[in-house]
Amino acid sequence: MTNIAFIGLGIMGGPMAANLVKAGFTVTGFNRSRAAVQRLVGSGGKSADSLAEAARDVDVIITMLPDTPDVKAIALSDEGLLATAKPGSIYVDMSTVDPALSRLLAEAGKERGIRVLDAPVSGGQQGAVEGSLSIMVGGDREDFEAAMPVLSALGTTIAHVGPSGSGQIVKAANQLLVAGTIELVAESLVLLEAYRVDTTAAIRVLGAGLGGNRILERKGESMLGRHFTPGFRVDLQHKDLGIALGAARDIGVVTPLGSLVAQLVSSLRAQGHGSLDHSALIKVVESLSGRG
Ligand code: NAD
Repeated sequence: MTNIAFIGLGIMGGPMAANLVKAGFTVTGFNRSRAAVQRLVGSGGKSADSLAEAARDVDVIITMLPDTPDVKAIALSDEGLLATAKPGSIYVDMSTVDPALSRLLAEAGKERGIRVLDAPVSGGQQGAVEGSLSIMVGGDREDFEAAMPVLSALGTTIAHVGPSGSGQIVKAANQLLVAGTIELVAESLVLLEAYRVDTTAAIRVLGAGLGGNRILERKGESMLGRHFTPGFRVDLQHKDLGIALGAARDIGVVTPLGSLVAQLVSSLRAQGHGSLDHSALIKVVESLSGRG
């Protein structure tokens, strides 16, 4: 399997597609804005003028699109991916979407002989660039194994977690952890600043204790400097918490802290900060504290 179509070449998809080229695959890119396709061509990929042209004769199709409606339109429309892909090919949706859509795609794929996996990722832009993403995969185990050579070029921790939609459920749990941790890191930093302690030394010592975590390690300094270039946009975190809370509600699981953090993310978005990095949650803590 050497021919891959990659749809959605944004913050994540751009470097992921480039890593597939580096690993020796033939990668044809398609994206709404052409500049992103040209960047892929610059790193050795190919360009397609239409979705159908990209997807027609390839062995593997990957989508890395923003939201559930984007994936639904691209995959299920009359001239969409599932209508165009050749039978026997593998379609891996790596976007974070509603697990119900992942199940629907798998059903629709089965009718046409196309093997569908949901494979959302964690690790952020840095993980996409380094090829060190965590990839959580739902679908048939055989199809997962067939896709492994491709997934291995994108991530270092890759796990099959159950049938279709399961990858999205694991990603939903991941987003609860990430958003909740960002909120607690933000509250801690605002507290440290209020008492004028040496915040850099504090981050170092906290990082080595039981409270140490990747958010503090990777984003602590930029949060202190109030640098919020995404990274992972607030709009996407808002979408993901909606998916997580919906999935929890559907099965009767209660997530009180997750719901509270989702409200705080909504507030940040309502204040016009949807395009900032999600670590901008510290702005809400500051504003609730009458600071900043
Ligand atoms: P992004 O907005 O940077 O990229 C999405 C790309 O898709 C853009 O280049 C856009 O032009 C393109 N696109 C949108 N609609 C299209 C269409 N109809 N046809 C063709 N191209 C289209 O988003 P991103 O940050 O790369 O995130 C992509 C997915 O990965 C999302 O589901 C997100 O939740 C998930 N994710 C992101 C991160 C992160 O740190 N950014 C981390 C893990 C998972």
